[in-house]
Amino acid sequence: MQIRNAMEIVVRENLAEILQQREKYGVEDVCTCERCQLDAMAMTLNKLPPRYVVCNQGEVYVRIAELDQQFKVDTLFAVLNALRTVHANPHH
Ligand SMILES: [Zn+2]
Repeated sequence: MQIRNAMEIVVRENLAEILQQREKYGVEDVCTCERCQLDAMAMTLNKLPPRYVVCNQGEVYVRIAELDQQFKVDTLFAVLNALRTVHANPHH
C-alpha cells in the first residue's frame, strides 16, 4: 500500500489533455517546453489542496475515477490559468 497525491495525477492528466488540444482551450500560443509544463504543474499544485489517497500500486487510477466531475473541471481551469501565468512570465 502507498499514499499518493491524487491531485498530482489529475493535474498531470489535465495538462496533457490541454496541450493536446491547445486550440480548443484557447492556449495555442503558450510555450510547451518541459520547463514551462513543469512550472505550470508546480504552480497549480501549490494552489490546489492535495487529495491524498491510500491505494495499491496502480489502484490510484481507480480512486481518481471515483472523484467527482466538478473536481476535475476545477482542476482543469486551474491548470489553464497556470499555463497562461507561466506564458506571461516564462523562466527562460
Ligand atoms: Zn517554455
